[in-house]
Order: sequence, then structure tokens, then C-alpha cells
Amino acid sequence: MSVRVRIAPSPTGNLHIGTARTAVFNWLYAHHHQGTFVLRIEDTDAARSRLEYTENIKSGLKWLGLTWDEGPFFQTQRLDKYQQAVQTLLDQGFAYPCYCTPEELDEMRETQKAQGKAPGYDNRHRHLTPEEKQAFEAQGRKPVIRFKIDSDRQIIWQDAIRDSVSWQGSDLGGDMVIARAAENYEHYGQALYNLAVVVDDIDMQITHVIRGEDHIANTAKQILLYEALDAEIPIFAHSPLILNQEGRKLSKRDGVTSIDDFRKMGFLPQALVNYMTLLGWTFPDSTKEIFTLEEAAAEFDLDRVNKAGAKFDWDKLDWINSQYLHTMPVDQLTDLLIPYWQEAGYKIDQDRSWLENLTALTAPTLNRLTDVIKETSIFFADKVEYSDEAMNLLQQAGVAEVISEIVAGVNSTEALTEEDAQALIKQVTKSQKVKKGLVMRSLRASLTGELHGPDLTQTWLLLNQLGADKTRLQETLTKISG
Ligand code: GLU
Repeated sequence: MSVRVRIAPSPTGNLHIGTARTAVFNWLYAHHHQGTFVLRIEDTDAARSRLEYTENIKSGLKWLGLTWDEGPFFQTQRLDKYQQAVQTLLDQGFAYPCYCTPEELDEMRETQKAQGKAPGYDNRHRHLTPEEKQAFEAQGRKPVIRFKIDSDRQIIWQDAIRDSVSWQGSDLGGDMVIARAAENYEHYGQALYNLAVVVDDIDMQITHVIRGEDHIANTAKQILLYEALDAEIPIFAHSPLILNQEGRKLSKRDGVTSIDDFRKMGFLPQALVNYMTLLGWTFPDSTKEIFTLEEAAAEFDLDRVNKAGAKFDWDKLDWINSQYLHTMPVDQLTDLLIPYWQEAGYKIDQDRSWLENLTALTAPTLNRLTDVIKETSIFFADKVEYSDEAMNLLQQAGVAEVISEIVAGVNSTEALTEEDAQALIKQVTKSQKVKKGLVMRSLRASLTGELHGPDLTQTWLLLNQLGADKTRLQETLTKISG
């Protein structure tokens, strides 16, 4: 049987890193087995679901390259299927109406708390007689539908990541609600999450349910539903959670959690997806840390996924992103950087080759696309701001003479070439009888206000093409002699 997996996000927020990582594992598993990856939008929570979140989830998955083969399917378009399943479970005696009021349930929980018992439904309406039911109906009570869970039942499954997992029926909180109370119509209302998921996974012939370990208790309940519906139980695989530095589940409190946030922070989709793959999985050759989704898919299997939570490591993500930035073709990177320059208000009406040269010069310094704003600010500044160490250098004896001679040299050339630049540095070194290093440092301090930065000759050439080197050298001279 061919592999069919799915990602089933609820559109109650933007695409979350945890969901995206689950999507990565599903995508890799599907592609490893030439299977099918299904997208299902679990939008039954009308109060919290929004169309814009569905759009965000779809565009986020596409941006990451996690394309799906079928769907998106929407649970709100499948409600009648869930109703049918509720009816089947009622007809076959696996489910029953429960007429408890919210007040009665609260009271029950209070009593359980007072007695030091775990809170849960005590199955009090499991065996109502027809007369008792009628009496509740006569009071105008609308029942929820509950699915029977035997306390002494032990639910065991072979998890593809966690090996054997077992749950005791008594730890599932009593008979579970599978359908809300009816609002307008007679019998019962909308089916709830666990039932809808099972009905869909059966219908969509899902062979492997790969999802976060926060769903383990749901899995125990869902297995009971598969049995009651007489359906084949898929293979379950519960992936480890993504943890913050303190070892707690990564959440909004950690700053960013949505894929949009990562995009805005300047991460590349191929780097982010590469990093997410490593959150819980390693390449068989564990020294290989930079790989495409396709390369990972060729090797991916669930038995190499860790059971332990995966700590989110910003330095590692930065490093992986930098590897992609440093090896990306210059024209492609330039296209990606242009919006950042524009957003920073930098004037980028220079010709394309100037921009590409600037890209090539700064690419090795970038960890994130956003770094380019700071790393190239000096090329777009009207005025140089001198750091303290640059100013100290510029005020050393002999530096003014060095700069004066460079100014004279620059003024006598039209457009500077690399050879001109090097010849001029050599000439000044010789005639001023100073070390070459001093000439270089003086030049860098004058042009950029710093003592450190990318290749000096290239920096100078780019500034020269803007006509900015002459003004900056002149301004430096005025400043140090004034
Ligand atoms: N809709 C669920 C969620 O967003 C996922 C359900 C599942 O994968 O079974 O957490």
C-alpha cells in the first residue's frame, strides 16, 4: 500500500514553527516513499478559525517548499460525514447522550478535587433508562454525545518514533464528548476534534499519522474510535517538541514562533527548512548538515527521529542560513537584498553591476538577509561617522600627509581601477616612508569611519564609482586638521 500522510493545521493562527516542522517530517516521509502528502485544514472551531490564517498557512508551506499533493480539504465542508459517524457510534452502542448541565459538571469536578481525585467525567449518564432520558428531554436539556471509554482498557501501540506506547483508559478523563449539544435541531450538534480527525484519516486513507507528541493522549482516544468504527488503525509517529533554551515548549513568549516571523528576520526558506529537519533528525552521515529537502528525503526515515525534545538553537540557524547566503549566486542574492535596501531607505539607483559587486563584497559577512542593512550602511551614508578607534588612528602623526597624497592621486584619475588603487597605496607608502598597514588603515578609517570591514580595495572602488571617496577623504582631512 502506498504511503499517505497529512498535515492538518487548525487555522487559528499563522503557520507555526511546530506545525511547519511536522509538515517537514511528513513531506520527507511521503517523498522518501513516493507517497502522497495531503493538506487538511481543521477549521471546525468557527470562533477562532480565520480565512487569513488558512492563507498564511498555505503560503508559508509553499514558501518553505513543502508542497502538498492533495487538498486543501476543509473540515467545515465535511460536517455531514462526522454526523454520520456519530450516528453509527450511537446506533452500535459505542456512544450515548449525556444530559449533564455545565453546573452539574462543575460540581462533579469540585467534588473530585476535594476528594483528591483526578478530574474527569464519571460516566454518570452512560446507563440512563429511556424514562430518565425522556425526563431530561422534557426539561428541555440538549445532550452532548459521549463515546464510551473503559477505565480498565489498556491502549498500546507501536509508535514509529517512540516504540511501544501505552495508555490506561482510566487516564483519558472518562467517556469523551464526540459531539456538541444540538442548538437548533433535534439530536446532537457538531462533531468534535477527535472524531473528525479519525473520520478524515479513515476517509483520506492516511497510512501514517506523523504529528507532535502533544497529541499522544489524543492518539489513545482515536485508536478506540478506529476500533469502534471498524477501521484499520494507521501507524502513529509522535515527533519531539521544539523546546526553548530553558527546555520548555517553544512559545510566543520566546519572541518568534510563526514562519512569517522567521521570514521577516531574514532567514531563507531553504535554510529554515534545512534547520527544521535537524530539529529531531540527523542525516545518516551526521557531519552533513547542509542539505536540500530532496537530499534529506532520499535518506529520511522515522527510526532516525529522536524521542527527546529538540532545543531551538539560534546560533545554529544563523550558521545554516549563512552557509546558504555565502554560496548563493550573486545575481540571485542581489535580488533578495534589494527589498531590504529599499526598506532601509537606501538609494539604490546605481547600475546593476555596482549592486552585484556590493553584494559579492558583503555576502561573506551576512548571517541573515537583514544584516545587509548594517553591513552596507557605509555605502549609502551621506556622512561618515568615525568610531573612537578610527579617530585615534586618524589623529596619529603623519596620517594627514598620507591622506592628502591619496586625495591628490584620486583627483588625478577618472574612474579608479584595482591596479590604480594598489599602485596609489604603494606610492604613498614609499613617498611618506610609512608602513603599508598605516596607509591602508588611514584609508579605511577615512572612507568608512571604521578600522575593520570587508576588502578595502573593493570598498574603495565601489565608493569611487559613487564619487564618494573623494568627498570622504577631503572631509576627513578637514576634520583632522581643523
Ligand atoms: N489540528 C491539529 C493541530 O493543529 C492537528 C491534528 C493532527 O495532526 O491530528 O494541532
